[in-house]
Amino acid sequence: MKTLSYKGGILRHKRIQWGIKLFFLIGYLFSEFITEGKSYYHEFESLVLISVLILGTFYCNYLCPYGIISEIFEKFGKLILGKNRSKIQIPEKYDSKLRHVKYIFGIFFLGMFIWGNVDYLGDHGEMYFSNPISTVYLIVKMTLGISILSFFFDRFFCRYLCYQKVWYNIIEQISPTKIIRSNKSCTSCNLCNKSCPMNVPVSQLATIRAKKDCISCYDCVKVCPPKFGAMNLVFFRKAVNPLKFIIWSSVVYFILSWAWVIFGIENLI
Ligand code: SF4
Ligand code: SF4
Repeated sequence: MKTLSYKGGILRHKRIQWGIKLFFLIGYLFSEFITEGKSYYHEFESLVLISVLILGTFYCNYLCPYGIISEIFEKFGKLILGKNRSKIQIPEKYDSKLRHVKYIFGIFFLGMFIWGNVDYLGDHGEMYFSNPISTVYLIVKMTLGISILSFFFDRFFCRYLCYQKVWYNIIEQISPTKIIRSNKSCTSCNLCNKSCPMNVPVSQLATIRAKKDCISCYDCVKVCPPKFGAMNLVFFRKAVNPLKFIIWSSVVYFILSWAWVIFGIENLI
């Protein structure tokens, strides 16, 4: 396979990445005002699942409103707490255990869809208020998970509580989009490990997949010294530039989300 070093500047990557995130977040929060009452909504679960199947967990980092809000709180935490924030991070031995909590929620919600007569692809508001446990889950998610706890801990909600990440981690296994690390070219500088917001042990893996909780931010690809080209984002066995991939994926997703709105595809599935 032909390898491709990441050539996008880090700052440029960050600006474009935040532009995309805020665009989708604003659309999610204010679409009814922007479209004068016509509701635009990009978080159609059927579309998200299709995107995970093709693009991997790209949705998690770039489009998920809860992931984006968590990251905003995380930025505030870093700004206000400075170096003290890193001192209060959850130790690795607890971190790896706590990650299993989301799988417990995953089993609970799966049971709800199978036996509880609840439509996962339908209205999520209705779904959460269909029983007391899912209602409490929603309250904890909104009040603690994506806000207060994200202020102190990196991606708290994505790491430990997001039951949807459980589905995505499974579906992503067959996605043609993946990150590949070449052991031959790796210089063991560990920059990839340090850059990872999900604490994935990147430098120990040959293929970085969502089952290790990767959220596809591509920071590890970006920081890997381009001279050696050890890290590559691969789409259908071809190395691609992460920046172009992010832009094109967002454009395609945006167009499809409108198709979902206009043609009511959610109701047809
Ligand atoms: S830094 Fe790499 S391994 Fe970590 S979440 Fe981002 S893409 Fe995944
Ligand atoms: S950043 Fe690249 S060279 Fe450094 S340890 Fe990670 S994969 Fe290896």
